[in-house]
Amino acid sequence: MGRPRFSTREPDGTLIARKFPLPRSIANVKRGFSEQKREDARAWAKKQLVRTGNRKYRPGDKQKPDPTVAKANKRLASRFYQLKTGHCLTGQYLAWTTRRPDATCCWCQYSIQTREHLFKNCPQWRCQQKTLWTTVLEETTKFPGPTRRRDRTSIAELLADERCSQAVLQFLATTDVGRTSGPPVAEDEEDAVSEASDLESREQEERIWERREEEERRVMRRWRSLFFFSFVHFH
Ligand SMILES: [Zn+2]
Repeated sequence: MGRPRFSTREPDGTLIARKFPLPRSIANVKRGFSEQKREDARAWAKKQLVRTGNRKYRPGDKQKPDPTVAKANKRLASRFYQLKTGHCLTGQYLAWTTRRPDATCCWCQYSIQTREHLFKNCPQWRCQQKTLWTTVLEETTKFPGPTRRRDRTSIAELLADERCSQAVLQFLATTDVGRTSGPPVAEDEEDAVSEASDLESREQEERIWERREEEERRVMRRWRSLFFFSFVHFH
């Protein structure tokens, strides 16, 4: 008993024997869980494949996430994945979820704000679009695989191609695409204005209440003193 069973390595390389493992961070524990889950799923699919021979249990071609996106900061990576899955802040998606009455582009008033529109045509991001597609063409020419040009590449293809990820991340970092669906609209300003007047009227109401309470207290004090006066004098 009491024999060290765990060892950890210091940054300088020396091995330290410990009786207990060092505490793990929540993130590390979570990662452990999801790795285990992935492992279980893979083992289950393999078993199903052997049992049924059904091709749908075959492991996919690519299980690892895009390393370029994985290395990017969390917010940027999350915007990237939202745009990739289509569950993103575009007019089209917001109108579909009924959070907006229509799919109009709030930057340029084009009738449907799609990913395609934002990555290729919206005049608000013209400069950034130019940089994006120039870089995409350069990168896809440099590395093996199909060459990607603006006019012949769908957004699904663009976002699925790892050779383009850095250029897409750069595009997202320099635009508001996928971060908001447009500039703050008049509606929001109206809300802000009515909120301010709301606050003002609430404050006014409170002042009225305070005055009323003060008045009541004064009346009560007078009654009380009258009562004592009568008590003392007439009993
Ligand atoms: Zn637009």
